[in-house]
Amino acid sequence: MEFTLPKKVKIAGLTYYVLSDYPFPPHNADLAGQIAPDDLEIRLSTKEPEVESLYFWHEVLHAIDIHYNNDKLDEEVIMRLAHGIHQVLKDNEMYNVKRRGNGRSKAKG
Ligand SMILES: [Zn+2]
Repeated sequence: MEFTLPKKVKIAGLTYYVLSDYPFPPHNADLAGQIAPDDLEIRLSTKEPEVESLYFWHEVLHAIDIHYNNDKLDEEVIMRLAHGIHQVLKDNEMYNVKRRGNGRSKAKG
């Protein structure tokens, strides 16, 4: 599985910064991820790529819930939906999509 964690992600018009290897304080040392809407940060701490991508989507879903759904979903629902979206992306090899072209702009003028 190849998943490139974005450095930032735009959700509801807001740019969230995606922080990997986030050093959670001791009382939160067991956290794999956290959304911090006031700081516009998605914080991830795991070094395991698959778990990191799962928690990336988990935190994105929290952000969507916060901005579009009045923060109504409970943790268990977010967990189930994150597993679902992660599995759809994996099963359809959408984690392995390569960017086409050489990245240079073909625009003229
Ligand atoms: Zn959560």
